[in-house]
Amino acid sequence: MARMPGATWRPVPNFRKDGQTEVRGLVVHIMDGSLAGTDSWFRNPVSEASSHWGTGRTGQLYQWVDTKDRAWAQGNGNASWLSSENEGRGGQALTEAQIDRNAEIFAWVHQTYDNVPLRRATGPNDRGLGWHGMGGKAWGNHPDCPGTKIVAQLDEIVKRAAAIVGKKPAPGGGTPSTGTGATTPARYQVTINGLKYGYGATGAHITKLGQALVKKGFGKHYKSGPGPEWSDADTRNYADYQKSLGHTGKAADGVPGEASLKKLLGSLPAQAPATPRYEPFPGAAFFSPGRRSPIIAAMGRRLVAVGCSAYAVGPGDHWTNADRASYRRWQQKLRYSGTAADGIPGKKSWDALKVPKQL
Ligand SMILES: [Zn+2]
Repeated sequence: MARMPGATWRPVPNFRKDGQTEVRGLVVHIMDGSLAGTDSWFRNPVSEASSHWGTGRTGQLYQWVDTKDRAWAQGNGNASWLSSENEGRGGQALTEAQIDRNAEIFAWVHQTYDNVPLRRATGPNDRGLGWHGMGGKAWGNHPDCPGTKIVAQLDEIVKRAAAIVGKKPAPGGGTPSTGTGATTPARYQVTINGLKYGYGATGAHITKLGQALVKKGFGKHYKSGPGPEWSDADTRNYADYQKSLGHTGKAADGVPGEASLKKLLGSLPAQAPATPRYEPFPGAAFFSPGRRSPIIAAMGRRLVAVGCSAYAVGPGDHWTNADRASYRRWQQKLRYSGTAADGIPGKKSWDALKVPKQL
């Protein structure tokens, strides 16, 4: 059993027991999504995805899979390499805190396993600190994971890991290549029926489209459940779907066209006639310890207004136990009981609360 001290142990069901046949080093990834979204995605057996560790942009460190077990992060590289997923959007660099967390992980891997040198690895048959794209097609063909900005940070991770264990980085490592046939997925937007699609487009229609892709079996690029912001993973999954329709070239670049979209969803979503006056349900995972948002404060004010306050101070914009206790009162007021009155908002009770729109 090997769990890293200092990492928050959050076991997920997605792994192969005792499947780590050797440890050549650590492979760095980008989530192309949020830590909370990835945390719940790895708990979903349908995703068939996981990694040993995960970092948040503000420095959270999770361990999801024991290092004796095989996580499902990089195809044929899973049996020989440990993995770290990092919160962020495709193309972003790691934050300072994430560089530190990865250095701590890599230092621990170096000290825990024999023959993991303190240097960047050059490919699947090398050892040290690697990245997903270096494995090419055999590792699932993710040339842009974690992206050139993060690949350029690997030497800094090695340097900090060496400082942690009080050694010098090992020689070698070579020049980082971004992998074979590195291509950035299409990053432009289109407007269909008044709604935007493509990299960076945001809205409930994006979440629904992602869910429809997963349902049809085109969800393998998600490392975070489908969310409201269009990511590279959405583009890659949509491209797979387009290819399944026989499209090629630009017609299969992962940015929707009207015909494929209509076919996927049954009909074309349209813009809501008026801006909704109330906050849409942000999903249960939104209400997690450490969450900070004006939506939380607005929810708290509504709970006070409907006579469900359990606040000693506040409400404020941090999700707290008092928020949860207040929300439980609201659920009880709606005659919910048992786990339906656990203080974590669900869609029905949330919509009934009518939290004024904040943005
Ligand atoms: Zn990856």
